[in-house]
Amino acid sequence: MTYRGRMRRFVILLSVVFTALAVALAIAPPSHAAPDVSLAAATLRGGDPVFSDPAAENPLSSAEVDQLTAQIRDSGVPVFIAVLPESAAGGATVDETLIALQSQVGLRGVYATVVGSQFRTGATTNSGLAADLGTQAFQDARDGGVYAVLSQFVTLVGDPTAGNSAGSSSATSDSGSGPLIFLLVLLIGGAVVVVVVVRRSRKRQLAQLTAVRATVDEDITAYGERLGSFNLDDPAFDDDTRADMQRALDSYDRAKSSVTHMRSPADAANVTTALEDGRYALACVEAHLDQRPLPERRPPCFVDPRHGPSVADVLWSPPGLAQRDVPMCAACRSTVDSGGQPQGLQVASAGGQVPYYQAGPEYGAYAQGYYSPFSGVMTAVVMGTMLSSMWHVPGVTAASGLDSAGFGGGDQSGGWGGFDGGGFGDGGFGGGDFGGGD
Ligand SMILES: [Zn+2]
Repeated sequence: MTYRGRMRRFVILLSVVFTALAVALAIAPPSHAAPDVSLAAATLRGGDPVFSDPAAENPLSSAEVDQLTAQIRDSGVPVFIAVLPESAAGGATVDETLIALQSQVGLRGVYATVVGSQFRTGATTNSGLAADLGTQAFQDARDGGVYAVLSQFVTLVGDPTAGNSAGSSSATSDSGSGPLIFLLVLLIGGAVVVVVVVRRSRKRQLAQLTAVRATVDEDITAYGERLGSFNLDDPAFDDDTRADMQRALDSYDRAKSSVTHMRSPADAANVTTALEDGRYALACVEAHLDQRPLPERRPPCFVDPRHGPSVADVLWSPPGLAQRDVPMCAACRSTVDSGGQPQGLQVASAGGQVPYYQAGPEYGAYAQGYYSPFSGVMTAVVMGTMLSSMWHVPGVTAASGLDSAGFGGGDQSGGWGGFDGGGFGDGGFGGGDFGGGD
């Protein structure tokens, strides 16, 4: 064989080896294919309320995960769902697996697991009700399979009076699939499913980052315009005024620098924390110039944090929400006083343009940067909004050095959000066994 021939053979052999390797890597379970509760917990903590392990005996399709996720977000109740293989229990009972999941997620709310064929529900508060609703959902929708039961459970949790309506329209025949189909899916489709899930998830994360980043950019621009309305070298400035002006300028720099380092929506908190500080510094500059006492440090206008510090709490019904006292800037207050509706900040979310406090959890850190220093007074303000359930954004508390208590404390309307002193699972567990004969 000529040298060229040997080389060609070598290259072909090499490419065969690499192809085999690539196929092996694609089919071989990735490092998380033998999951325990920690991977599910990390996913749920990360803002995705539904985790379905592809290796679970009764996995959800990625479309079902998306539908459940949307249903949970619409419900406004913090629900966390994990569908796991029986092996995830590691010898523990299904109830213990659910407790371990809740403990590792560490967020208040309602939890549901399907471990193998066992369905269990519980909650950090009102666990007895969560258990009852789990049992009811199972009875209502078991014939439709795992997705139908979970969907019915979310429906009932969002509205415990929804009753026997079994709104689950999804009865797919997949849930009745036998071990053969399961094996086929695992072997042939498993790698594809993983790739599709990862790709979808990346695409969604990118869309969320883009939306939050655009909002934050506009906040910085608005702040820059406000800064520009001051004569930075005004000879009338005394030392105190100059110091506050410098602080306002430093905050601007900090916000601009933070936004360039944004890698995820959670990083928005660094930007909005700086902007909140800068807005207050500018309010102090104005007070100096007007020879007024320095303003109280109050939360930004809830209608739109770009309006700067609020001046009062005003009784207001945010669109779609119950009436409450809301911190407002002077302009919004006078609009409400004269019977008008102040123009709130709208942001891009999966559901279109919505008020920032009703957008997805990706805006949790954005709001937290503005409002968490005032968590005591904000508890009642965010009640019933998306912020009330999405407050604990991982990483943000560490980044801003704030107490992890956040907006907690208040018991929310449904009673799912707050601690009532009762332990997780005190009311027993609800659910059922999909493998059961009757
Ligand atoms: Zn305002």
